[in-house]
Amino acid sequence: MLVVMKNGATEAQVQAVITEIQKMGYRGVSMPGAQRTAVCVIGNQHPVDGSLLLAMEGVKETITVTRPFKLVSRETHPESTVISLGDVKIGGGEPVMMAGPCAVESADQALTIARFLQKCGVKIYRGGAYKPRTSPYSFQGLGIKGLQILDNVREETGLLIVTEATDSENLEAVAKHADIVQIGARNMQNYSLLRLAGRLSKPVLLKRGFAATIDELLMAAEYIITEGNSRVILCERGIRTFSDNTRNTLDLAAIPAIKELSHLPVIVDPSHAAGRRDFVIPLAKGAIAAGADGLIVEVHHDPTHALSDGVQSLYPQQFEQLTHDIARLKSYL
Ligand code: PEP
Ligand code: MN
Repeated sequence: MLVVMKNGATEAQVQAVITEIQKMGYRGVSMPGAQRTAVCVIGNQHPVDGSLLLAMEGVKETITVTRPFKLVSRETHPESTVISLGDVKIGGGEPVMMAGPCAVESADQALTIARFLQKCGVKIYRGGAYKPRTSPYSFQGLGIKGLQILDNVREETGLLIVTEATDSENLEAVAKHADIVQIGARNMQNYSLLRLAGRLSKPVLLKRGFAATIDELLMAAEYIITEGNSRVILCERGIRTFSDNTRNTLDLAAIPAIKELSHLPVIVDPSHAAGRRDFVIPLAKGAIAAGADGLIVEVHHDPTHALSDGVQSLYPQQFEQLTHDIARLKSYL
């Protein structure tokens, strides 16, 4: 249930509603908005009788939330969420570009790519220090050393860093070194990890699982937000279907579908969807045309020798082309 407060309701009235909800055995989460403040009732297994709340000072109305997710839902938070990081706004109307190698391989590799991306106007650098690989014999990432290299990239270029935490053991270290903590597709339903990510003070980039529905993705985001971290960015990165011409099938319809259901920003990863570099640019353009708030793209200066995902990594000149294409495309939208 959502308790909508009257325009001009006082902080004390909002607090009184939260206290009353607690007395009923639930949790009340205040959701300030541009138009009005609302209090979301959390933790009820069954519909709540709102008559007591409706009679309280400052309460305008109570609304039944029809979806299983609450804090991520547009029903409870009609305005789109904008996540600000320094001067970068994610979800603010301008598509945000995150780019970099799949994995941090060495200080030289990371910095060479970062310097190029910085020249292209990129503000957020991606690169995995902990890599969730299908084979245990594949390169697993440099771990702590990779995180230190990312610190150096930030220091040298001013780029913000998004990097993945693959389990609860490396989450704390990742959160210390990252500006945005990535939870990958394989961990989208790792609920204990999601809860821990919900206690971080850093934004979380949550990628859709290969076989997850939109509702499941949103419920996963709910796990993070219900722990107190409301800065969640969702990422469509392709799902597994019968179609085998690409590594995964990019679900472009997920973008408007998520935007209808949720106020959270949605970005798209065309690299892991395509699995081949020649398809990355068309998919990226499709994503922006469909309303994505940004992209996360793999780029490598020497993809033939990349230690992971070289075949889907763009060459620097291709990435530059993509940034021009996106700029042109935006002028039509
Ligand atoms: C990645 O971004 O490097 C990655 C492993 O992505 P995903 O979790 O989408 O497979
Ligand atoms: Mn990758």
